[in-house]
Amino acid sequence: MENFAEIREEVRKLCADYPGAYWRALDRESAYPTEFVRALGENGWLAALIPEEYGGSGLPLSAAAVILEEIQRAGCNGGACHAQMYMMGALLRHGSAEQKREYLPQIASGVLRLQAFGVTEPTSGTDTTALKTTARREGDSYIVNGQKIWTSRAEHSDLMLLLARTAPAGGKRTDGLSVFLVDMRAVKENGLTIRPIRTMMNHATTEVFFDNMRIPASSLIGEEGKGFRYILSGMNAERILIAAECIGDAKWFTEKSTAYARERVVFGRPIGQNQGVQFPIAKAYARMRAAELMVYHAAALFEAGQDCGAEANMAKMLAAEASWEAAEACVQTHGGFGFAEEYDVERKFRETRLYQVAPISTNLILSYLAEHVLGMPRSY
Ligand SMILES: Cc1cc2nc3c(=O)[nH]c(=O)nc-3n(C[C@H](O)[C@H](O)[C@H](O)COP(=O)(O)OP(=O)(O)OC[C@H]3O[C@@H](n4cnc5c(N)ncnc54)[C@H](O)[C@@H]3O)c2cc1C
Repeated sequence: MENFAEIREEVRKLCADYPGAYWRALDRESAYPTEFVRALGENGWLAALIPEEYGGSGLPLSAAAVILEEIQRAGCNGGACHAQMYMMGALLRHGSAEQKREYLPQIASGVLRLQAFGVTEPTSGTDTTALKTTARREGDSYIVNGQKIWTSRAEHSDLMLLLARTAPAGGKRTDGLSVFLVDMRAVKENGLTIRPIRTMMNHATTEVFFDNMRIPASSLIGEEGKGFRYILSGMNAERILIAAECIGDAKWFTEKSTAYARERVVFGRPIGQNQGVQFPIAKAYARMRAAELMVYHAAALFEAGQDCGAEANMAKMLAAEASWEAAEACVQTHGGFGFAEEYDVERKFRETRLYQVAPISTNLILSYLAEHVLGMPRSY
């Protein structure tokens, strides 16, 4: 796989302007990294996957993975904007020529932010097809009612990709759901209410309420009732990119651990001279490398247009576990200082924990593998 050395270097340079102190200050206030996201946008990094004809750079998925990996490796947090990279895929693959012409260039140039992804609901959780938000056609509009939860970055986005029910449940459970590209600027406080949720880490996540929210019928992406399939088709890219972020996190933790283990002297010698300190770090490194191979294998399959469902899922699971193992080793290596804000270890520890739950939790990945790869009966 190509290493994209130049991309790595450029992203690292940009990230150097946003050191630990920047993220710590935001973390304390639960504030959004506006300047960081703007810089990524202005330098075209968030438009990596948008084709050149729409003003993006038309890079392959593995290049986008490298961008996110380097962001995390530098100690920054791509969670503030990673969705912009993969969400436009639904628009690109299933949107009309007019929608693409209208939105993609503006997303590519950073004029419009497509950061909000409204799928999860409080009552349905992982069982997406049981969602209750409805969109009812009325003349040239749809009227949306319902609620989403964990809609991250909604306060910092202009557009939202929304999955809602347009026909009653029944028959095939994936039918009757539709995807909309909602221009939130037009409906904020006019049918759309956004409330932030305070979380363990700084993630700008929210709950959103739709109360007779009227959106133009032209917001519909693709065909009515086929939305679930459209969302599914973007999930492999999402999993691969988030797995790459976890690889970046694991590298950050391991670099931090080894540096501290070499420097910190206790009992008259560096703690890193003790195998009890070395081994957990080395083990986490080996796990990260194995996960990294799966991430880039999945990306290669994706780029070749081959089915990569199993590999994308495994990459996400293995990378999230590897970053968590590296995080655990990092806290342990730092002893008490692992808990001190100024080392950034505790912040990254909280941040990387998310990826065993979102965007898909480990159990659901295991049931996917059990059913679709190993041929065991469906469990849910
Ligand atoms: C910070 C944060 C940001 C997020 N951002 C977004 C976002 O931008 N957009 C969005 O749409 N969603 C977002 N999510 C939602 C996220 O995708 C879900 O939290 C995740 O998919 C799990 O769903 P849930 O929380 O409803 O858990 P549930 O579905 O309630 O599951 C709870 C637990 O039970 C397990 N479980 C459930 N069913 C089974 C089963 N059949 N077999 C075995 N185990 C099972 C799960 O694995 C999980 O461990 C975010 C979540 C968080 C915490």
